[in-house]
Amino acid sequence: MSEFDRCFTKKKVVFLDLDGTIYLGDNLIPGATGFLDYLKHKEIHFYFLSNNSSRSKAAYVQRLKKLGVVTSEEQIILSTDGVLAFLQQQKVKQVYVIGTESMLGMFKERGFEVDSPHPEYIVLGFDTELTYKKLETAALHMNRGVPLLATHPDLVCPTPSGPIPDVGAMLALFEKASGKKPQQIFGKPNPEMVQHILAKHAASPQEVVMIGDRIYTDMELAFRLGCDSILVLSGEARREDLEGLSQQPSLVVESLGHILPTSPSLPP
Ligand SMILES: [Mg+2]
Repeated sequence: MSEFDRCFTKKKVVFLDLDGTIYLGDNLIPGATGFLDYLKHKEIHFYFLSNNSSRSKAAYVQRLKKLGVVTSEEQIILSTDGVLAFLQQQKVKQVYVIGTESMLGMFKERGFEVDSPHPEYIVLGFDTELTYKKLETAALHMNRGVPLLATHPDLVCPTPSGPIPDVGAMLALFEKASGKKPQQIFGKPNPEMVQHILAKHAASPQEVVMIGDRIYTDMELAFRLGCDSILVLSGEARREDLEGLSQQPSLVVESLGHILPTSPSLPP
C-alpha cells in the first residue's frame, strides 16, 4: 500500500491549513482545487483551519471564493472559535480584546463587552490594527491580575514579503512587561480546536488527516491528536526542518498539487 493510500483509506475528515497550504498571499497554490475536488468526490469532509484571528469567517469565505474555492462559514475553523467557546462556558461577558475590528465584531455579535473597564479576561488576537493605547490598557489590566488568553501561539505570520510579528511575539512583549504568561493559548496545535468536528462526524483520529505547512502548529496538532499528517513544503517548513524531529509527518510533499498519485507533476 502506498503512503497516499495509507493516508486516504477510510478517512472521514481532512483538515487543511490556509496560509502557505491553500494559498500564499493572493495566489492559490497550484493543484489546490483539484485536490479539494478529489475530497468532494470521495465524500471526505474537509475544513480549513486558521490561527489567523485578524479576519472573520465571512472574510475567509470571500477570500477563498476570489481564488476559486467555494466554501461555507461552517467549513472555516478559526483560533478565535476556541476562545469564544471557552468564555461562553465560563459565562464571562466582560473582556478586554486586543484585536482587529473584524475580530471585535465576532465577540460583540455574541454579546461580549470587548472594552470592559472591569474585564474578567484579556484576549489577545492577531491585531494588525494594534495601537500603543491597547498595549497600555492590557498591561494595566494584567498588573491588576486579570488573566490573559491568546488566540494562538504563532510567532510570525507568513506574507509574500516575509514573516511579520504575530501573537506569539506579542506574548513575549507582555511577558517582558508584566512577568506573566498567558493562562491559556488556543488555536493550533491545541487538538481541542477540532474535537467538536470529530464528534460531529463520529470520526476517530485514525479517520482524520491534517495537512499544513508548519511543523510546530499543523504537524504538532496532528501528532497530539494522533491522526495522519501531510506536510506541504509550499509555505514555511523546509525539508531540512524535519531532521531530528522525534515524530515525522505521514507524508511530505512539495504542495497540495503533489498529493494525488494521478497528478502529472508527481515527483518520481
Ligand atoms: Mg500555514
